[in-house]
Amino acid sequence: MNLLIDPWIPVLHQGRFQHVTLKDVLCQDADWQLCSFRDDMELAALQLVICLVQVIFPPDSHKEVRQRLATPMDEEEFSLRVSKYLDMFVLDHPKHPFMQTRGVKAKESTPMQKLFIGYDRSFFNDPDEISRACPACVAVALFNQASNCPSFGGGFKGSLRGSAPLTTLVYGESLRSTIWRNILSRNTGDQQSMSSLDGNNQPGWVDQIKSQEVIYPHKIGLLRGLFWQPAHVEVEWQNSKSQCQACNQVTHKLAIGFKKEKFKYEIQGIWLHPHSPREWKLAKGTREEKYASFTTTAPAWTQLNTFLTEREIGSAKAGQPAKAGYVPSAVVSQFRKVFFGEEINLIVGGYRVNQASVLQRRHEMFNLPAGWTENMDKVEELIALGLKVKDELRKKLFGFAKKVHVPGLPSQAEERFYQSSEPLIHKTLRTMKWQEGERIKADLLEQLSSLARQIFEEVTQSYRHDPKMIRAFALSRRSLNSALNKLSIS
Ligand SMILES: [Zn+2]
Repeated sequence: MNLLIDPWIPVLHQGRFQHVTLKDVLCQDADWQLCSFRDDMELAALQLVICLVQVIFPPDSHKEVRQRLATPMDEEEFSLRVSKYLDMFVLDHPKHPFMQTRGVKAKESTPMQKLFIGYDRSFFNDPDEISRACPACVAVALFNQASNCPSFGGGFKGSLRGSAPLTTLVYGESLRSTIWRNILSRNTGDQQSMSSLDGNNQPGWVDQIKSQEVIYPHKIGLLRGLFWQPAHVEVEWQNSKSQCQACNQVTHKLAIGFKKEKFKYEIQGIWLHPHSPREWKLAKGTREEKYASFTTTAPAWTQLNTFLTEREIGSAKAGQPAKAGYVPSAVVSQFRKVFFGEEINLIVGGYRVNQASVLQRRHEMFNLPAGWTENMDKVEELIALGLKVKDELRKKLFGFAKKVHVPGLPSQAEERFYQSSEPLIHKTLRTMKWQEGERIKADLLEQLSSLARQIFEEVTQSYRHDPKMIRAFALSRRSLNSALNKLSIS
């Protein structure tokens, strides 16, 4: 299967699931929507399409990005531009198959399901729900495993962005418009690899990363970086007609497992991946940078400002360098400039992991109305407010939890607060009228405070009938009320 010619992009059109080609998606204006059996694989399919378009059709200017978005591509232009890459993206190429290495040495075959992260019952009920898969699903799974997931475990290297990077992209009304909203033009200055002239731009499966190689980020070209494969993987195929157990489509070629082999290399520094926000801090005068990830159960809204705007924080004195900061993904930064004055639908996706184990997959969309670029301080205030209410709920439960010997109560309350407040925060952001910021903030505080009081009542219910606890309960409740009232005055 050739990713530049054959149908592999999973879409839903008028209620019908089908695979379409890259040419279909770029050269037609159909209302296809991506569709997969799992939200993370759907996001991976989108990322894969975006990466292909980014390397094959990079626009020269911001103006060209807008033009591409407005008009479908000419079919002749498509064929001409892909012609030079035709041999590079073939899933079963005899010499250099897409994201794989020929001749992987492994004693045994790894079950297919391991390529679809969460195989260890995190996302599956059975260990062999996917024992055979079609080429379209395998292409997406290979890309997702290499780009977004923790490594295969012991001794295997993780993705170029770390073990479980978070991805932020901008959503559009159709698949074609979503793609172009996320394609960087060559004049986007903050993307080092876009302008890296001496970077190796061959994908790792054509020009293999050498074992023990020490690699400098500026030597990694955009194509090589976007399709980085940190492990040696080789898919095993069988020619027989059957149903793919991931997408349910009938296929004549089935992947029945794969071989994997670890190898070592070292990257000195951080490669600027255009799809992820980064965080940095000064440590002994050196800027240490890493990709944002989901490290706690806190929902994505708590970090939303860091996904949308660049900030430096913690400067001790005027004129002194900041101690930390965050930088949005290059695609979000470009969107701010090119589509200034438009609303944003931000896709945030990633996994929460503990080393090689996946604890949770997260996939969210935030909508902020037009004007968000000039009003980020208001978004930050709303986020801070939500966090303050959560902190008060936690703090006021802490003492009570100690008295009833249930130390887990504050965390339990926090979890409930996050769950119940999420739709409220999304709605507040979606319906935001920037000029009425103060009123909206007051409304949100009232609703979040009432939620905090309700959760406080719920989690303490089983303990407060004990006569010895009545006083402790009353004190904690009074203290919570007073803290929440203070928030509304400040
Ligand atoms: Zn499939």
